[in-house]
Amino acid sequence: MNDQMFDLSGRTAIVTGGNRGLGLGFGLALARAGADVAIACRDMKKASSAVAEIEATGRRAVAVSCDVASEASVERAVAEAADALGGLHILVNNAGTSCRYLPQDVPEAEWDRVMDINIKGAFLMSKHVHPHMKAAGFGKVINISSMYAIFGGAVDSAYASSKGGLVQFTRVCAIAWGPDNIQVNAILPGWFVTELTESYLSQFPEREAKINARTPAGRWGRPDDLAGAAVFLASRASDFVTGASIAVDGGFSISD
Ligand code: NAD
Repeated sequence: MNDQMFDLSGRTAIVTGGNRGLGLGFGLALARAGADVAIACRDMKKASSAVAEIEATGRRAVAVSCDVASEASVERAVAEAADALGGLHILVNNAGTSCRYLPQDVPEAEWDRVMDINIKGAFLMSKHVHPHMKAAGFGKVINISSMYAIFGGAVDSAYASSKGGLVQFTRVCAIAWGPDNIQVNAILPGWFVTELTESYLSQFPEREAKINARTPAGRWGRPDDLAGAAVFLASRASDFVTGASIAVDGGFSISD
């Protein structure tokens, strides 16, 4: 144990969907701990302000154009980020989306879109970042799952299935890549204020009070509430932690 165990100096990270919401929060948290950061995102217009925010921490930041649902795009983006930063040690699979339909009503295209981004995207990114981690002799993969890996929701069939699948994918990679000294873990965020949840609340406004009442912390999360777990899972402090799923939810998942 030493006071450098959370220091990410000399490490490089790639964060998918890092141009806004929780993804930008992860990029900032890793940079504040010392990492250089690439954000991989579809909307390059929003990327420039995110890059400037991360650079303001004093670390390097670059943006690479990436659709996580396309292998060709992922392959290009990972190569570009590794070239720009000189390797990749930390991957945050944060890009995600949702759709809300009862199971019998989900259009096939919507099911495929959610699965392609939330689960295939994490698979493709992990697949293409793995050789860089292996070459470095260590790596940290952090998969952003959800409370919906624990709970179901009548209108969340595609989202909950994808996030539950991501927890299983986390365990599989943790086992497969243990010998490469790559730790693979998941974070299960509770309820955080972002564009994703704003659209949820506009569809189901009655949920806000129910979520507050069930959360022992008595409030929704802010992106910075995830910083501690992210830095822990990206740092030497978690070298013997792998295949785990850590809830960061103000106690929502243990409350009645
Ligand atoms: P958000 O909608 O604000 O951000 C999602 C990000 O993913 C955006 O940058 C978006 O452009 C990107 N993205 C979507 N599809 C992509 C694709 N094909 N290729 C590349 N990037 C793509 O949502 P958020 O709330 O910041 O969520 C981030 C992650 O956290 C998601 O995986 C979400 O499921 C998860 N999560 C969020 C909450 C919450 O309360 N906000 C709770 C649990 C889990």
